Amino acid sequence: MSKIKELGEFGLIHRLSSRLKFHAPDSVLGIGDDCAVYPVKSGTYEVISTDALVEDIHFKLSTTTPEALGRKALSVSLSDIAAMGGTPKRVLVTLGIPKKISVSFLDKLYSGFNEICNRYKVELAGGDTVFSPKCFFINVSVIGEAKRVFTRRGAKPGDLIFVTGTLGDSSLGMKLLSKKGNHKFLTGRHLDPTPRVHEAGILARSRINITSMIDISDGLVQDLYHICKASKVGARIYEDWLPQSPEFSRFCNGNAIAPLPHLLNGGEDYELLFTLPADGVKNLNRQFLKAKVLVTQIGEITLRSKKVSLEMRDGATKTLPESEGFNHF
Ligand code: ADP
Ligand code: MG
Repeated sequence: MSKIKELGEFGLIHRLSSRLKFHAPDSVLGIGDDCAVYPVKSGTYEVISTDALVEDIHFKLSTTTPEALGRKALSVSLSDIAAMGGTPKRVLVTLGIPKKISVSFLDKLYSGFNEICNRYKVELAGGDTVFSPKCFFINVSVIGEAKRVFTRRGAKPGDLIFVTGTLGDSSLGMKLLSKKGNHKFLTGRHLDPTPRVHEAGILARSRINITSMIDISDGLVQDLYHICKASKVGARIYEDWLPQSPEFSRFCNGNAIAPLPHLLNGGEDYELLFTLPADGVKNLNRQFLKAKVLVTQIGEITLRSKKVSLEMRDGATKTLPESEGFNHF
């Protein structure tokens, strides 16, 4: 009998899901990507996903505010819709409430929900409210729409790998919080991440041939492995190309912190990681420049099946292990 720890999060999901035998005939995608996908009318797909945040695993009540927690709970779910190139439309919210939680805390949590719903034009259309013996938890299910769907599968050798925004900020922010440090930008990126819904919209509306996409929730390398496995390809990324915020570089330099582990394996950046053939790059850069959002090439897809390698500053190359990102077990 396998133990959950031996299976790991993804082994466990695979084991449980491979036993499910009914698959709806109109499903475009079921388990295994950021969202499940099915057609709703000609040329339109619905994309759905769910995400849970559990006290002391995903957040600590002592280091966040209820408003930020509300924004984050919705943002991480919206990020999965963005990862498919979709537009979020509706959310359902389940709360597990222990005794220590007050009404005023929940009012503030909902003011955070409200902010994200207004910002992204998403309706909070229902949910469930239950008692929880110890930990506070929030589960958010989200439904979105897409005209084009970008999946993890489809990256081809020679495609270029891009990422929106910067890497490692959230992970460094979390480390600071755990040491009772404070840095408004870095801790803010952890407590209150931005789902890249607008950026996904730019990609979806463009004619760019996006061959694969995922959002970075578990760390760059682990999520790039998800693309490589689904697409049966490898990837090479370059240490020098990984985008860092000025705040991240300054903090690492000033405090003798090695940036690389945060850049490669730091989770919860919620940036989009995607691939496209080289002939789409001009168009990509033009669209992102116009929208004033950062997008950076970090490497390319290779033939070397299911391996992610890093070319370091000194020119040496090493294969990166898959499992240093976030895994619940
Ligand atoms: P993400 O990090 O994008 O939220 P996950 O890594 O949580 O995605 O999940 C990977 C895939 O496994 C997704 O397709 C998700 O829907 C599916 N999944 C996760 N947990 C379960 C579960 N308990 N039963 C069935 N499918 C699951
Ligand atoms: Mg995801």
